[in-house]
Amino acid sequence: MLVIDLEKNASRLARRGHPWLYKDDLKAADLVDPVFSPGTIVRVRDHEGRDLGLACASIRSKIALRLCGSWPGDGVPSLDEFLANRIGRAISLREGLIGERTGVRLVYGEADQIPGLVVDRYDDVLVLQATTALIDASLPLVASILGELIETRMILARNDLSIRRLERLPQEVVLLAGEPVERVSILEHGVTHLVRPYAGQKTGMYLDQRPARKRVQELASGARVLDLFSYQGAFSMAALSGGAASATMVDQSISALELGLETARENGFSEPELIQGNAFDVVRDLRNRAHQYDLVILDPPAFCKNRREVEGGIRGYRDLNRASLRLLAPEGRLLTCSCSHHLKPEMFENVIRQSALDLPFRVIVEDRFGSGEDHPVLVRVPETEYLKVRQLRRWD
Ligand code: SAH
Repeated sequence: MLVIDLEKNASRLARRGHPWLYKDDLKAADLVDPVFSPGTIVRVRDHEGRDLGLACASIRSKIALRLCGSWPGDGVPSLDEFLANRIGRAISLREGLIGERTGVRLVYGEADQIPGLVVDRYDDVLVLQATTALIDASLPLVASILGELIETRMILARNDLSIRRLERLPQEVVLLAGEPVERVSILEHGVTHLVRPYAGQKTGMYLDQRPARKRVQELASGARVLDLFSYQGAFSMAALSGGAASATMVDQSISALELGLETARENGFSEPELIQGNAFDVVRDLRNRAHQYDLVILDPPAFCKNRREVEGGIRGYRDLNRASLRLLAPEGRLLTCSCSHHLKPEMFENVIRQSALDLPFRVIVEDRFGSGEDHPVLVRVPETEYLKVRQLRRWD
C-alpha cells in the first residue's frame, strides 16, 4: 500500500487544512517512487502516525500532494472506486440545482475533493477540464462514470487551458463520448443562454455568476444598463429579462458580442447595443460623451493570475472601478466583481475604497456575495472564495 508519512512541518501545513503540499514541503525520499508518475492515489499520515486521508500524488507537478479527503479503513481505493465515489458525492451536492436545461458546475476540483477536475453541465452536454496528470490520464474513466450517472449527448474535454503546461500536458480538445455538439441552450432564471462547448471561453459559459445575474434581473427594471467585459452578454440578458430600458455590451471579442445579439433575439428581447473594444478605453470614451447608467456591471477577467501580477492588477481594478462609479447616474448601482484568487476579499474591498476617493458623491455598499452553491467555498481553503461581488450604490 502507498503511504506517505509526513514530517512535522508538512504535517502542520496539512493539518491547517490547505489541500496542497509542494515538493519542497516533503522529504525527497517520498517522491522518488516511479509509480507516482503521472500520478497515483496515496494515503497520508502525519508525523505522529495519524491518518490524514487520501492524496493525489504527482512528481511531475510542483504540487506533489493534493489532499482529497478521508476514506474508510486504512487502505487505498482503486482509481475507479475513488472517482466514482467523489463524482457521485459532487453530483448529490447539486441535486437541488438540476432541472430542465440546467447549466451547473457538477464537479469543482479541490472543493469536491477531486483535484484537477472540472465538469460543467449544459443540459445534456458535459464539458470537462483536466489540470493534473492523474486526471488527464483518467479521462476515459471519468467519462464512463459520468455517462452512467447522467444521460448525455456529448462529453467533451476542453483541455486547451494554459495552466496544463505546468504539468507538461498538451493543449487539446477531445471528444470523449457522443457526437460533436457545437451549440446547446440552457435556461437560467427563465432566460435562454446559448453555449458553444467548442468555441466558447473556458467550458462555454461563466456559470459562477448565476447569483449575480439573478440580482441584476431583480434590479434592472427601467434601468440603462452597461455590461463591461460582457462576454456573450449573460448579464445583459438577465437585465433585459428584468425589464431594463437598454443594455450595452462591451467586450473585445466580436464573436462573443454577436452571440449576445443572437441570444437576445432568441429570447425576444430588444437588441443590446454592442461596443467592441478595450473596456479601459471604452469607459473613458463613454464618460467623455457624458453617458450615464443606472446599473453598471464590471466583471473583468482575473488581472492577478499570480502573485507577481497583484500590484499591476490592483491598479487595473482601481482604474476600472473608479471609471465605472463615475458613469453612474444619481442612485445608480455598480455590481463590481473580481475573480482573481490572489486578490483576497479584504484587498478587493480596499481597491473599492480607493476607487471611491474624491468622488463628489457617497458610495454605499449594499451587498456582498460570491459564486453559487455549485462552486462550493471551503471554510479552511480561502482560495475557494475566489469570486467576489460587491453591490455598490451612488447616493448623493
Ligand atoms: N461577464 C461575463 C464574463 C466575463 S469574462 C459573463 O457573465 O458571462 C471576461 C471577458 O472580458 C471575456 O469575454 C474577454 O473577451 C473580455 N476581455 C478581456 N480583456 C478585455 C479588455 N481589455 N477589454 C474588453 N474586453 C476584455
